[in-house]
Amino acid sequence: MIEAPKLDLDDLAARVRAGERAALGRAITLVESRRPDHEAAAQQLLLKLLPHSGTAYRVGITGVPGVGKSTTIDTLGRNLTASGHRVAVLAVDPSSQRTGGSILGDKTRMAGLAVDPNAFIRPSPSAGTLGGVARRTRETMIVCEAAGFDVIIVETVGIGQSETAVADMVDFFLVLLLPGAGDDLQGIKKGVIELADMLAVNKADGDNAGRARRAVSDYRAALQILMPPGAAWTPPVLTISGLKNIGLDALWAEIERHRALFEKSGALAARRSEQQVKWMWSMLEEGLMQRLKADSRVRTRLPVLEQDLREGRITATLAATEILSLADG
Ligand code: GDP
Repeated sequence: MIEAPKLDLDDLAARVRAGERAALGRAITLVESRRPDHEAAAQQLLLKLLPHSGTAYRVGITGVPGVGKSTTIDTLGRNLTASGHRVAVLAVDPSSQRTGGSILGDKTRMAGLAVDPNAFIRPSPSAGTLGGVARRTRETMIVCEAAGFDVIIVETVGIGQSETAVADMVDFFLVLLLPGAGDDLQGIKKGVIELADMLAVNKADGDNAGRARRAVSDYRAALQILMPPGAAWTPPVLTISGLKNIGLDALWAEIERHRALFEKSGALAARRSEQQVKWMWSMLEEGLMQRLKADSRVRTRLPVLEQDLREGRITATLAATEILSLADG
């Protein structure tokens, strides 16, 4: 068998930094790989790129399917590249492993941006748990930043825990809403409001414009009740049309205002370091859980203990203590 040529990580890092597309793709493939030797190489590569990352503004975008995420990202992204930015679009979609293909970050959904030389679109890594997918997206973000992209957009669907995972990796979290949904505030799950740095009611064009404006007043009123007093930032509520490119300049101006404010106060640096620590803990939790479940003694004993628990022969505390002691031993 012919040995594959050894990967020259210094060379790859240099090419990534020089903005070579092929190198960028290769580096991300390495980061996404689950082969243990690739994982080790990816970590080495990331160490080399890390000092050149952190310069982009990272914006998360969420919303239910059909709200207009890809349409809006396509238009917004092209506005940004037209004004000199370099834009990378990434996605977090842990469900894509079931469907066998990612629906988010799909180039066919962002036809304009896909052919823009100053844009880069990468679909969601399709492998594994939410933690695993989020980790790979975070690491891809580092690669893109080192390659000179100064705006990173991370797209996710408004379901499950993926919103929290994305909010935990970005500087700014934008929630897209539909006009009309404001009537009963169905789109405004309390959890999402706590994550949102801005709400934008999309499709505010044609017949929808009036309904979109009413939705904005409803959301503003809801925010006033939900926001803690004295907050440093009150999430703006805007109307936009991703399709017709309406309101997207105002939307981006708010994101820049947020950046300026949070950079100046030190809150941006604080948010990023907090995210790092939280990220480490979530990886630890996931890793420990995986290790626990892989332990042969635990695997033998677990079904017995579960049955004992169901039939009331043991307490949950005793069962948990025994499992932990097995894993320790
Ligand atoms: P996603 O699933 O959130 O990515 O939503 P898409 O971007 O695929 O949009 C879903 C549908 O809504 C498509 O048919 C779009 O053309 C349409 N759409 C998206 N944005 C707008 C908008 O601003 N105005 C109108 N009228 N339609 C839109």
